[in-house]
Parts: sequence; C-alpha cells; structure tokens
Amino acid sequence: LVIGGKASRQTASDNAARPALEPEDALASDLDVAVARGQLFLVHQPKTHARTGEVVGMETLVRWQHPERGLIGPNDFIGLAEERGEIRRITEWVVRQALIEQRSLALCGHKLACSVNISACLLADREFGRWLLDAVRGAEGPFGLEITETAMIADPEGALANLRAFAEAGLRIAIDDYGAGLSSLAYLKQLPAQELKIDRMFIHGLSTSHRDPLLVRSTIDLAHALGMEVTAEGVDSPAAMALLRVMGCDHMQGFLIAKPLRLGELRAFLDARIERGATPENIEFPWP
Ligand code: C2E
Ligand code: MG
Ligand code: MG
Ligand code: MG
Repeated sequence: LVIGGKASRQTASDNAARPALEPEDALASDLDVAVARGQLFLVHQPKTHARTGEVVGMETLVRWQHPERGLIGPNDFIGLAEERGEIRRITEWVVRQALIEQRSLALCGHKLACSVNISACLLADREFGRWLLDAVRGAEGPFGLEITETAMIADPEGALANLRAFAEAGLRIAIDDYGAGLSSLAYLKQLPAQELKIDRMFIHGLSTSHRDPLLVRSTIDLAHALGMEVTAEGVDSPAAMALLRVMGCDHMQGFLIAKPLRLGELRAFLDARIERGATPENIEFPWP
C-alpha cells in the first residue's frame, strides 16, 4: 500500500541546482552520506498529562540539515530512506542519539520518557530487533516506540515476534497516527501496544466538525476498553484541549503545549515550567 509520502517527497525535491539528476535520485545519494556527515539532528516534542499538565515524556523526531537545500523534515526523506534501504541506519542513529539526549536531560534533573518513531517496514527485521534491545538496555528512563504506518507490515509474523520481545523488555509500544491511512482496527487487534495516538486530522476538526468529536470520543473509549492509554496529537487550540480533557484523553501533544524543540530549548522549557510552578494547561478554559 502506498500512502501520501510520494507526493510530498517530490515537492521537497526542488532540484533547480542539479538538473542532470532526477530530484529523488539526487536527494537519495545525499541521504547515503547524511548520517556519516553528521547532518541529522533531533528535536523533542513534550507530551503532557491531560489533567495535570505535567510533562510526562517527549516524542523524538529527526531532522536533516542539508548543506545546500537547508532544513528537510522527515516527511520529505523518511519514505525515501525506506525505499533506498537507508532506514535502518537512520533509525539506529536516531535511537543512539535519543538515548544520549535523554541521559543528558536526566543529568539536568529532567527524567523524561522518550519515544522514537519506527517505520513499520523495519519491524520485521530480527537483526534490528536484537540491536534495539541491546541499545535500550542503558536507557536513562522509560523508552518507547511509535509504530508509524509508512508501509504495510510485509511480514506480520516477524514484526509481531519483535514487538513481543520489545514489550517484554519494557519498551512502551504506541500505535501512531491512529485513524489515518493504514493504522486501523487490524493494528489494535494484533499489536501488543500500550498506547494509541490519535492522528491530528481528527483533533483539528474537534471544534469545527460534527463527526470528529464522535470519532475521537469513541476511539478513546475503545482504547481504554482495550487497556490502552490515549495521546491526542496536534493539540493546537485551547478548545481542542478542553474537549479532550472532558473526553478522558490521557495525554496531549501539540503546538499549544510546545513545538518540537532542540535539546537546549527543551531544557529551558522544562526549567521554566518548574520555576513558574503553574502551566498553561492548568488554566481553566471556558466550557460551553
Ligand atoms: P508523527 O510521528 O505523527 O509526529 C508528529 C508530527 O506532527 C511532527 O512532524 C510534529 O512536528 C507535528 N506536530 C506536532 N504537533 C503539531 C500541531 O499541533 N500541529 C501540527 N500541524 N503539527 C504538529 P514532523 O516532525 O515533521 O514528523 C512527521 C512524521 O515523520 C512523524 O509523524 C513520523 O511519522 C515521521 N518521523 C519523524 N521522525 C522519524 C524517525 O526518526 N523515524 C521514522 N521512521 N519516522 C520519523
Ligand atoms: Mg510519532
Ligand atoms: Mg503521529
Ligand atoms: Mg505522522
């Protein structure tokens, strides 16, 4: 199954400078060396407890600082990395660096759970699974995986074996972008996940659409009935936050709370919250 990735990669590949190559080929050959040349970096988006506003963890996201093209977001190169066989190398770099940055935060007094995104196409790779289990052994705090539905899980048996081993090792498994694209009831039926992340397309429509609040509420109830916790993605308005609280959503993530931040910025954000004592989420929003 092919989902939205292709089109967005093409728009990102503005190749005016190198007309000799297809845009994707040029970007792909640059991607080959991006890890080795230290062009990738991480940002972390805080996740808060829906009722208390306490920061409960962070989602770690990758960025590519391209020497000529500037900053490239993951939507514009992760799909390409998957196609070109680069995704494992990139993911291993992301996990290693995430562990380093999580430890660095812990040393500053901020012990946060950290989650990284794992492409579904990597899930069935047993060698990757063993590498990951070994790597996270030294994690300075809870570590989690968000299973992103960039591709169909080609080998469901292999993927399940890895996921069970991850869950047994104490990794927190989340189903990412639930409701969009491929993330479906089949995922809920099969994956040993503790957390469900509702895609932001449903969160954005919370106060404008008639259907989205119903879909979100029933998804929260469904996840709870299955013993899972729910995170709303893309919470970017006080109205959405207020509604999600009433609906019993467990955790929130979105621009209203914070954008994805570099490590130093995140530290400043966390320090400032501790100093203030109060958080923006503790403000009571008017409820209709
Ligand atoms: P995702 O895992 O669903 O990550 C959340 C995306 O939503 C992030 O975009 C984040 O910046 C954005 N976002 C967060 N809050 C808001 C909001 O309030 N409003 C809006 N409009 N957007 C919000 P980003 O960083 O561009 O990542 C896009 C996707 O790329 C991620 O979606 C994830 O699927 C993938 N990705 C990111 N890092 C990695 C990685 O290391 N490995 C893999 N395999 N995929 C990654
Ligand atoms: Mg994610
Ligand atoms: Mg997501
Ligand atoms: Mg996404």
